[in-house]
Amino acid sequence: MLDLSNRILRTDIAGMPLEWVTYQEAVRLYYLEQVVYACGRLMYRVRGGYSAATGRRSVVELNSIIATEGSIQASLKGRSGYTPPLDNKALFRRDDYLCLYCGDRFRNSLLSRDHVTPISRNGEDTWNNVVTACKRCNNFKAGRKPEEAGMQLLAVPFTPTHAEYVYLKGRRILADQMEFLRAHFPRTSPLRSRQPVDDMDA
Ligand SMILES: [Zn+2]
Repeated sequence: MLDLSNRILRTDIAGMPLEWVTYQEAVRLYYLEQVVYACGRLMYRVRGGYSAATGRRSVVELNSIIATEGSIQASLKGRSGYTPPLDNKALFRRDDYLCLYCGDRFRNSLLSRDHVTPISRNGEDTWNNVVTACKRCNNFKAGRKPEEAGMQLLAVPFTPTHAEYVYLKGRRILADQMEFLRAHFPRTSPLRSRQPVDDMDA
């Protein structure tokens, strides 16, 4: 299951999750001496160039989580008040691929973004006003609010924190990375009970 397409979780120096990086990006961070410490399991051993002095070949060991000297911009994402960008893939995963009206689970291509208060009624295109809906329910609801259509939301839409957003953007998440992320989710986060992800969107 572990191959070179697995991503490494990059955190700032305080351990706040920042983003997913490829193993090439992680190697680069090591050579730039940006990696302060590593945790999680050993994922790869990457061979580098030969040293002119010793004739030995350098080896970089990459763990599943690396803490790096972060930019100020990156650390700002950990602050409250930060709103991650809204996109359908992250939205569908937030709602666990369930239509929040009929409660059935669908693949991405059958899901859509529903505006709880429709745009035509001055509803906003923001995390707190959007839910995952199957196309059938979305068509039925049309330009109405749920109560006008006799529909009831199965969960309350919420804006993810940056740590939750990192989880939502992960393509393949290892168990130790998931555990690490979970520790940074808000205590009441509905994402706490989620399992590690292995290409669910594929
Ligand atoms: Zn539905």
